Amino acid sequence: MVACASLYLVSRGAWVALGLLLLLVLIVWVGLFKQTACDVETKNAPDGCGNTAYGRLRACHLRDHKRAKHDALFALFGLRNPTQAWRVRWTRSPSAYGRTAPAPGSTPSRVTNPLYDGAILVATIAGSVATIIALVLQFN
Ligand SMILES: [Zn+2]
Repeated sequence: MVACASLYLVSRGAWVALGLLLLLVLIVWVGLFKQTACDVETKNAPDGCGNTAYGRLRACHLRDHKRAKHDALFALFGLRNPTQAWRVRWTRSPSAYGRTAPAPGSTPSRVTNPLYDGAILVATIAGSVATIIALVLQFN
């Protein structure tokens, strides 16, 4: 698909559109497919989780890390992750038998490079829009 679009743009001499398309492909690859480290900060790994993640915007296989990364990306833009509304949270209150509910497993995880990940997200969106505009202009 990308190769066909590239060949078409080369045949038409649309170098700006070709450059934007290739930039978009690079940004999408870095954001969603490049093999990298998860980098979510945990209690045991303050330098960031070292598990493999595919894409700077994605986390490793651990559900907490996926949530932390999604929450951090929303928080970067001053938003709240809408999926938080469906998360069940158990409080540590005394039960009728005088015992307490289990303590939470750990403190919430954080993303070590939220600015970098947010910049990748913004670049992905901006690159997509620019490429679509360039392709529309090229076809007209
Ligand atoms: Zn992780």
